[in-house]
Amino acid sequence: MLLFSCAKNEAARNTAASGDAPLSARQTRALDKGETNFTVVKTDEEWKKILTSEQYYVLREKGTERAFSGPLNKNKQKGIYSCAGCGNPMFSSETKFESGTGWPSFYKPLNAAAVLEEPDTDMGMLRTEVLCSRCGGHLGHVFDDGPKPTGLRYCLNSVALKFTKEI
Ligand SMILES: [Zn+2]
Repeated sequence: MLLFSCAKNEAARNTAASGDAPLSARQTRALDKGETNFTVVKTDEEWKKILTSEQYYVLREKGTERAFSGPLNKNKQKGIYSCAGCGNPMFSSETKFESGTGWPSFYKPLNAAAVLEEPDTDMGMLRTEVLCSRCGGHLGHVFDDGPKPTGLRYCLNSVALKFTKEI
């Protein structure tokens, strides 16, 4: 049910584009098949030591937090959103928008190298998973029903992000 909310307009997306956005619209590259060559590599035990149980569930087990539960969903301060696992800067407050889904939403990443995307067919839906490019942590999914200029909606878990206020 939670995932359904995060996947709103998914039917429209699949009809319009067979599940794939035009590559030209993408800000990031796709994860190579089987790619595990991340800069930050830790064992599950090591991750458990530095992450809260909720962060571990989302980042390392690809979980989804409850909608409207995350502290950063409503955050409107200026700043940078980094990976809660490894500190990789990934999104700017300038591209954050109110999607109404209950999860922090952005229309593009900070730069092309910040995140990776991977097809995800879990839950019987074709979705595109968004991962941190440094540690491979699961952040959320990207959909094609976002606002201009990209038309993309990066629907992310609040607990997967660490916010640093602009000074
Ligand atoms: Zn990371």
